[in-house]
Amino acid sequence: MFTISEIRGFPFPVQLRTEHLTGHQCRISPLRGERGIGAGGCAMPDTGEVPCPFCPERIFLETPPFPSGERVSVGESVTFPNRYPFSAFHTVTVISRSHAPDRFSVRQIRDALTGQWSVLSDAEGYVSINWNHLSSAGASMHHPHMQGIADPEPTAYTRRCLEGGARYREQTGESYWEAVIESERGGPRHLFGSEVPWYAHPVPLGEKEIRAYLPVGTPGDAEPYIDALATGLERVIALYREQGHCAFNMAIRFDRKGSVGDFRAFLSIIARINPTPAGTSDSAFMERLHCEPVLFTIPEDLPALFADRK
Ligand SMILES: [Zn+2]
Repeated sequence: MFTISEIRGFPFPVQLRTEHLTGHQCRISPLRGERGIGAGGCAMPDTGEVPCPFCPERIFLETPPFPSGERVSVGESVTFPNRYPFSAFHTVTVISRSHAPDRFSVRQIRDALTGQWSVLSDAEGYVSINWNHLSSAGASMHHPHMQGIADPEPTAYTRRCLEGGARYREQTGESYWEAVIESERGGPRHLFGSEVPWYAHPVPLGEKEIRAYLPVGTPGDAEPYIDALATGLERVIALYREQGHCAFNMAIRFDRKGSVGDFRAFLSIIARINPTPAGTSDSAFMERLHCEPVLFTIPEDLPALFADRK
C-alpha cells in the first residue's frame, strides 16, 4: 500500500513515505518534534469578528436561513447556509453555544454531525463534512463550527482516492478499501474501533493524521455511524490536546449518492500548529507548493499514546 525510504546524508533519520493509491508523499523528521513545534500550549488568540455572529444572542439574527426560512437546530448546534460559499451547496454548523469551549463533548460533536447530515445526506454530487478548528487551522471564525460542501465534481484529493480505488479494482479484481482496512486491522497503526476502525495513517497528509473508515460509501448510507464518528473524534481531539495541539483540520469524504463503486467513506483529521502571537504556520513551501508535508510523528508511535491514556 505504501513504501518507506530513508533519505540519507543527514545527521538524523528522515523518512520519505509514498502512498501507492494516490501518489501522495510526505517526509517525517522526528527531530523536528524535539523543537517543540506545535506543542506550545493552548493559548488561543481570538482573531474572529467581535461581536461574534455565531454566539447564541446573534446567531438567529445574523446568519442566513435555508430557502425554507428555517435553520436546523440539533442540541446546541445550529446549521444554516454559508454566507460566503465556495461550493455549489455549502453549509455551516455552529457546534456549541460557548464561543470558546475548553473541550468538546461526544454529545456536542454528535449533534453537530447530525445537523450536517440532516442537510447533506441527500445532496447531489460529492459531499464532504469538514472542520477547521482555530485560526492556525484556517478557521476565519473563532466560534467552533463545521462546514459541509457538495459539488458536481469531487475535490482533488477525493478524486485521487476514487480513481486510485477504481484502478486497483481493475488490476486486482478486489476492493482497495477492504484491502487497506483489513491490512491495517490489528496492526501497528490500529488505534481503536472495530466496525469503524481508527488508524494512524501510514503516509500522513499532516501531523498525527488519523483516519476512520466507514463500512459504506455515501452520506445517506453513513448516517447510522454518526455515533461512532462522534465518539472517536472526541477521543482523538482529547489526545491531540494532551499532546499540546489544540488546532486541527477534519474532513469526512464520501462517494456520490447512487454510486456503484466500492469506495468507503472515511474521516481524516490532522493536528495543526496552535495559534501563536508570531502567527507561525505549519504550512510552508513543502506543504503548499510541493504538496509534500513535513511531519515529526512516526505513525507507528501513535497507538502507544492512546494506550497511555487508559
Ligand atoms: Zn461566538
